[in-house]
Amino acid sequence: MTKRKLILSTNNFDKVEEIKDILKELPVDILSKKDLNLENVDIVEDGKTLEENATKKAMALKEKVEGIIIADDTGLFVKALKGAPGVYSARYGGVEHDYDKNNKKLLEELKDVPLDKRGAYFKTVIAIVLEDGSSFTVEGICEGTIGFEPKGDSGFGYDPLFIPKGYNKSFGELGLDIKNRISHRAKALDKLKAQMYMILKGDAYEDICSK
Ligand code: IMP
Repeated sequence: MTKRKLILSTNNFDKVEEIKDILKELPVDILSKKDLNLENVDIVEDGKTLEENATKKAMALKEKVEGIIIADDTGLFVKALKGAPGVYSARYGGVEHDYDKNNKKLLEELKDVPLDKRGAYFKTVIAIVLEDGSSFTVEGICEGTIGFEPKGDSGFGYDPLFIPKGYNKSFGELGLDIKNRISHRAKALDKLKAQMYMILKGDAYEDICSK
């Protein structure tokens, strides 16, 4: 049976790698914008919420591809900064997706904040658009603390600064095996997986039962 396509509406290679790893047992062909030569489809992330941005990113490919489309929008919410950088996490340091500048700005903003006040959480919202145009979102949250200096070079973005609850190392030090089990993205994708098994039940029943 031909597998259905699951298209990831992102140009962020780090996200593609994590999402492909977490969803690897789903009986679908997972393709990124790069795999489909759609990297030039430009999407302005001007929504006021992660939900709006994720839905916008997924819908942007609707007329261009056949398949189920998903898009992830993620923010880091720091309690001492009243939720900043939040929805604006990508351009916090002034330049879109400059991870180093973002991390420097975050450390600067928190320079006088003691350890017990450095609580933060990542939130990921994933929007799913089905072939018939219907859509829904799932979300995942990972709580933790912002460290005093970047540590480790695994992952991306704020990972060298984010120490997940229950650990004393940053995501950058813990590596992808652990991150992909406990992260905001992993939690959202676990919910997506449960929904996807329901959606795929009709056309891949035997495949699913054999897992
Ligand atoms: P986006 O708008 O969802 O692409 O993500 C906004 C920004 O959040 C990115 O540019 C990264 O700096 C950061 N980010 C997103 N996901 C993660 C993650 O899993 N770990 C660390 N930083 C992340």
